[in-house]
Amino acid sequence: MTKHNFSAGPSILPKSVIQEASKGVNDINNSGLSLLEISHRSKDFKEIMHEATSLALNLLGLDNKGYKALFLQGGASMQFLMTAYNLLENKAGYLNTGAWASKALKEAKFFGDAIEIASSKDNNFNYIPKEYSIDSDLDYFHITSNNTIFGTQIKHIPDTDVCLVSDMSSDIFSRKIDFSKFGLIYAGAQKNFGPAGTTLVIVKEDILGKVSRKIPSMLDYQVHIDKESMFNTPPVFAVYTSMLTLKWLKDNGGIESIESKNNTKAKLMYQAIDTNELFVGFAAKQDRSLMNVTFNLVDSNHKELFDQMCKEANINGVNGHRSVGGYRASIYNALEIESVKVLIDVMNELKRIV
Ligand SMILES: *Cc1c(COP(=O)(O)O)cnc(C)c1O
Repeated sequence: MTKHNFSAGPSILPKSVIQEASKGVNDINNSGLSLLEISHRSKDFKEIMHEATSLALNLLGLDNKGYKALFLQGGASMQFLMTAYNLLENKAGYLNTGAWASKALKEAKFFGDAIEIASSKDNNFNYIPKEYSIDSDLDYFHITSNNTIFGTQIKHIPDTDVCLVSDMSSDIFSRKIDFSKFGLIYAGAQKNFGPAGTTLVIVKEDILGKVSRKIPSMLDYQVHIDKESMFNTPPVFAVYTSMLTLKWLKDNGGIESIESKNNTKAKLMYQAIDTNELFVGFAAKQDRSLMNVTFNLVDSNHKELFDQMCKEANINGVNGHRSVGGYRASIYNALEIESVKVLIDVMNELKRIV
């Protein structure tokens, strides 16, 4: 039975990756040992870590540009504080576009003057603020490129000389942007490229070493760079499976070709919402996410029936986040267009029968 998995996170991974990861759990590289029971200092695992970091930089177009890729623990939530710990000396600016952005701002305030440059809270974060300016005296400007809960996405990356930091947890590797505009990018693996348990951090090395405070080793990016993400025992399974997904992405044409597939899926979804009077989209049209499609029933009396129909069609994970309600179809890289068509068929069928 094929399930159509729209889960927001942890979320869908390519079937072939799950199969290969399972094989590695049984026996890695025909060694007679499981990936889970070998030293992270072994040749087998060192190669996995090296390949994972190389693939990440390569896919983002950041080879030989002064960037390092790290696989850390603690989730994107740990990066909320780690970014400030390592980068905030005087003042940092935050674009508050949702629940995750708000949390990032809250954590940064422990370390200094972290200010909200603009916010879309006035309309329950259903749009991306655009009328704001970025003062040149900021240590960095923090954005959330895709707002997983609200289904909005920043289409135009701000132009600024200030160091740009982005939480890209739910749209990294999904679309081509100029990643070299950023000083630091972080993303929890479990949305678009791996299992829960590791967070990818892409950091431009020359932005580090500028704060006067002392930083505990585990929270110091430079320590993790110097130790190549092996300062302590890395989450071996999460890194391995992330590496397999990045390899899958590269073998399938990289970001450019996945972006065109993602565009097709999003276009189909939004068209289905806009042409069906039973449904209404949540996010402002110009800011709609290509990864998380948020929508609602106009008449909540149809909820029980629609939910039942989704269930019968083997659709999983379309319930909206509690702060938005309604529905959220997460259409990450690994989701096939066929699954989107199944959901759209159910939406159209509902219109036909009510
Ligand atoms: C899920 C998510 C987070 C939180 O990630 P954790 O790994 O659970 O800490 C942060 N930011 C965004 C944009 C997310 O989608």
